Amino acid sequence: MITTSVCIIGAGPGGATAALQLDRLGISCVVVDKAVFPRDKVCGDGLSGKVITALEKIDPAVAGRLRLLVEKENSWGVTFVSPGRQSMDVPYKPNYNKQEDAPLGFVCKRIHFDNFMVDELKRSLNVRLYEGVSIDKYTEEADGYILTSNTGDFAVKAQLVIVANGAHSSFTRDVAGIRMEPKYYAAGIRAYYKGVTGMHADSFIELHFLKDLLPGYLWIFPLPNGEANVGMDMLSDAVRDRKVNLKTLLTDTLKNDPIFAERFKQAEMVSSLDGYGLPLGSKKRRLSGSRYMLVGDAAFIIDPFTGEGIGNALYCGAIAGKQAAACLSAKDFSAETLLAYDEDVYRVLGPELRLSYKLQQLVKYPRLFNWLMKMGMRNKQLRDVISSMFYEVDLRKKLTRPSFYFKLLLNR
Ligand SMILES: Cc1cc2nc3c(=O)[nH]c(=O)nc-3n(C[C@H](O)[C@H](O)[C@H](O)COP(=O)(O)OP(=O)(O)OC[C@H]3O[C@@H](n4cnc5c(N)ncnc54)[C@H](O)[C@@H]3O)c2cc1C
Repeated sequence: MITTSVCIIGAGPGGATAALQLDRLGISCVVVDKAVFPRDKVCGDGLSGKVITALEKIDPAVAGRLRLLVEKENSWGVTFVSPGRQSMDVPYKPNYNKQEDAPLGFVCKRIHFDNFMVDELKRSLNVRLYEGVSIDKYTEEADGYILTSNTGDFAVKAQLVIVANGAHSSFTRDVAGIRMEPKYYAAGIRAYYKGVTGMHADSFIELHFLKDLLPGYLWIFPLPNGEANVGMDMLSDAVRDRKVNLKTLLTDTLKNDPIFAERFKQAEMVSSLDGYGLPLGSKKRRLSGSRYMLVGDAAFIIDPFTGEGIGNALYCGAIAGKQAAACLSAKDFSAETLLAYDEDVYRVLGPELRLSYKLQQLVKYPRLFNWLMKMGMRNKQLRDVISSMFYEVDLRKKLTRPSFYFKLLLNR
C-alpha cells in the first residue's frame, strides 16, 4: 500500500493543477489516472484567458511554456451568430496588434493540452504519478482514506483526497451525493474536420446560437494545420424532452443548412463524432466533506452559459492545493474545516456562475437574442460587454442590470 498525505484522483486539467500547486508549495502528493497519457477527452478545446492566468499564479514558467506550445492555435476573438443569423465579430481586445499583443485565447486539442499538463507533473519532484490505474473503491478510516483500484492490486492510503476524476465521478455521486439533474447538465458532441472554408483570418472562434439549440450553440473552433473542432451542446432536459439525437442533428445541420453546406462542401471529418456530459455550475453545491475536496467536472462547476470548464477546473485545482496545505499544517481534515474550500471556490467563481446562469436563461428567447445582436452591431458598448463575457467577469455583470438595457435603448 502506497501512503501519502494527499492523493489526487484524475490527472486532467483540474487534478494536474492541484498537483502542480502542491508541488510548488513543497508538498508531496500521489496522482492516479485510469488513462495512460497522451489521452483524448471530448471537448471544444477552447482555452480562455483564465487558463494562462491560473498557471501564471502557480508558476510563471509553466505559463511561459504553454505560450510556446506549438500544437495550439492563437485566437483573437469570437464571432457570435444569432438565431436570426446575424453575425458579429468581437475581438478579445479592441484594436489588437498581433505583433505586439499576447493572444488571450487558444484552441488546443485536449490530447496535447492535457499531455502538456501531465509533462509538467512528470518534471515536478514532489509528484508521484500512476497512469493506467482506475480508482473505484473509497474507504474512509479514522486516519485517512484507502483508495483501491478496480482490480484490487493497487491501493493508496491518504490523509486527504482531491477528487478530480471528471463528469462521471462515482465519488461525486456515491460519497458527495451530487446527482445529475437534466436541467443543470448539458450534452455535448464534437468531431474534427479538415477543409472547412470561411474561417476568420485571425482565428476567431465561432458560436452559432441556432434556434433549435438555445441556450446551447453550434461551435467551429479553428485549430492548427487547417483543422477545426466542430460540435454542439444542448441542455440535457431539452435533449430528453425533444428526443433529440445530437449526432444526427449536427451532421444534418452541416449538410442541409445553406450557409454550413457551402462552408463544409469540401470538408472532411477526420475523427469519430463523440459525446460527453457537461456538469454545469448552475447552482451551489457542497464541494467538500470529511477528508475530501471535489475539483473541476467532479465538482459540477462548468460555466452554464459559455460551457467553459477547463479554466474553472484549473481555478478549483489551485484552490484545493492551497486548502490541502492549510489542512496539513493544522492537521485538521474535518468537513467543517474543509468548508473553507467551498467558500473560496464560490467567492472566486460564484458571481460569474450566477451571472452565467442568468444569461443562459436570457438567451433561451430567440427574439431577445436577435434584438441584442442587432443592437450589438450598432453599439460598441454592447460589443465590448459581449466580448468580455468570455474573458472579463466584472463587465459581464452589466448585462444583468436593467439600467444597462435602458441606456442601450436611449443611445440607439
Ligand atoms: C463536448 C464538450 C465540449 C467542451 N468544450 C469546452 C471548451 O471549449 N472549453 C472549456 O474550457 N471547456 C469545455 N468543456 C468542458 C471541459 O471538457 C471540462 O470542464 C474539463 O475537461 C474538466 O477538467 P477535469 O480535470 O475536471 O476533468 P477531465 O478533463 O474529465 O479529467 C478527469 C481525469 O480523471 C481520470 N479518471 C476518471 N475516472 C477515474 C478513476 N476512476 N480513477 C482514476 N482516474 C480517473 C480521467 O482519465 C481523466 O484524465 C467541454 C466539454 C464537453 C463535453
